[in-house]
Amino acid sequence: MSKRIVIIGAGLAGTTAARELNARGQAVTVIDPQAGDTCERPPLSKHLFDDSRHHLPYHLESTEHITFVRDWAEEITLAEASADSRYTAESQRHPHPLVDHHATVGTVHLASGESIGFTHCILATGMEAHRPQIPNYPDALPVYDLGDAEWVLDRVEKAHGPFDVGVLGSGYLGMEVASSAVAAGHRATVYLRGDEPLRKQLSAPVRQALFDRHRAAGVEFVTHSSSPDDIAADVHDLFITSVGARPRLIPIDGHRPALAWDVDESLATSHRGVFAAGDCAIVTAGPYALDHPWACEPVAESHGKFLAELLGDAPDETANGTEDTPAETGADPTETGSKIWSEVPWHWSFQGPEKVFTAGLTSPDATDTIIRHDPSGKKFQVFHFASTDPEAKLRGVETFNWPPMQAAARRVLGGNHIPTRAQLEDPEFDFKAHSRL
Ligand SMILES: Cc1cc2nc3c(=O)[nH]c(=O)nc-3n(C[C@H](O)[C@H](O)[C@H](O)COP(=O)(O)OP(=O)(O)OC[C@H]3O[C@@H](n4cnc5c(N)ncnc54)[C@H](O)[C@@H]3O)c2cc1C
Repeated sequence: MSKRIVIIGAGLAGTTAARELNARGQAVTVIDPQAGDTCERPPLSKHLFDDSRHHLPYHLESTEHITFVRDWAEEITLAEASADSRYTAESQRHPHPLVDHHATVGTVHLASGESIGFTHCILATGMEAHRPQIPNYPDALPVYDLGDAEWVLDRVEKAHGPFDVGVLGSGYLGMEVASSAVAAGHRATVYLRGDEPLRKQLSAPVRQALFDRHRAAGVEFVTHSSSPDDIAADVHDLFITSVGARPRLIPIDGHRPALAWDVDESLATSHRGVFAAGDCAIVTAGPYALDHPWACEPVAESHGKFLAELLGDAPDETANGTEDTPAETGADPTETGSKIWSEVPWHWSFQGPEKVFTAGLTSPDATDTIIRHDPSGKKFQVFHFASTDPEAKLRGVETFNWPPMQAAARRVLGGNHIPTRAQLEDPEFDFKAHSRL
């Protein structure tokens, strides 16, 4: 076999790709200091206070096909190719045979000094949290990794009586921590820059509904909080920061992008044979292109599956099954065909008792949405379109406390009967029934 697939990062995207490639009988090397020992991140911000399981391992084991390398990848160098055979995103979509074939397309250099050659590499290095200092709370930390969460859990377990939790930042993770603390009988205060939480994540009707519910439940909000330096000392027993994260990026031939790895609709970077998945990738083309990483669990998993299919199906053997090199066969080991990542992206966030979901393309700034409530008026969905044209097709849905309708939204967006704005404006239109077409 001529394919040598290396995955850097054994989080959700990397683990999923490895598992699926293994199921296809494809050998793969997984590089991560925690390879085989990683766990899901979402429970970390939701189960710090309620005795539920916060540690849900991925259970990836080394097999005949999966090799773990427990180390940090430090950089990648690509094999020299002749000038006119260097890959661009465009040529990766329409690959031409290389003039100068190499069995190895690139090399991953490890912290230990070892190196590993590959024909295909999946970058799945995720993100790391920003860790701002809070002068009056030197122990403040995010809950991004298992280590962070276990430190917090230890404090919570040793506490006698309710805790007073301070939270800096009002994105998904901050709201999950604050609302779950209050749901468990603790106090929580959220310090935020603006005047409402979740401003960058959800449209106005959804974030307002959450704001109302969280305040009613007892979460306190300190709005227009401009600097962590102003947060008073001796108020909180525990301080959690939640002010975003940045992709972890290792240089390729000395190049490291400013934000994340731009990938095309096949999740290929502009570097030949190198793909990126999950939180470290920005999908720049295809139906779900976005100007920042999707950064959500279902997308990381979907990327992992997509790349396993793409690379698992890429040609790897000569017709007679012998192990000739690509140079000998004329086959290009990086050729992957022209599949497009198109699974409907979605996100979920459980904030204490409140459950909020998105599916497809939604925007926190949208003002021309359509809202539909359940008969009680307590659950609702917000429908997003590209324009106000009555014939504009649905492209995204937010769902507030209505899980079965989130499932319907995913079915509709993933199906062949995408409704128009005019249809959703019609009170008689049955969205759930439509999702079954
Ligand atoms: C606390 C928390 C709660 C979340 N809750 C939700 C939620 O409710 N809903 C939702 O949809 N999403 C949620 N997410 C987001 C979701 O967990 C991520 O989108 C998903 O984990 C991304 O998967 P990934 O494989 O891209 O990266 P990760 O899971 O972060 O894995 C990256 C891996 O790469 C390894 N790595 C990094 N650099 C290197 C290197 N140089 N060499 C070797 N290995 C390296 C790391 O050790 C890590 O194991 C949450 C995230 C966090 C942190």
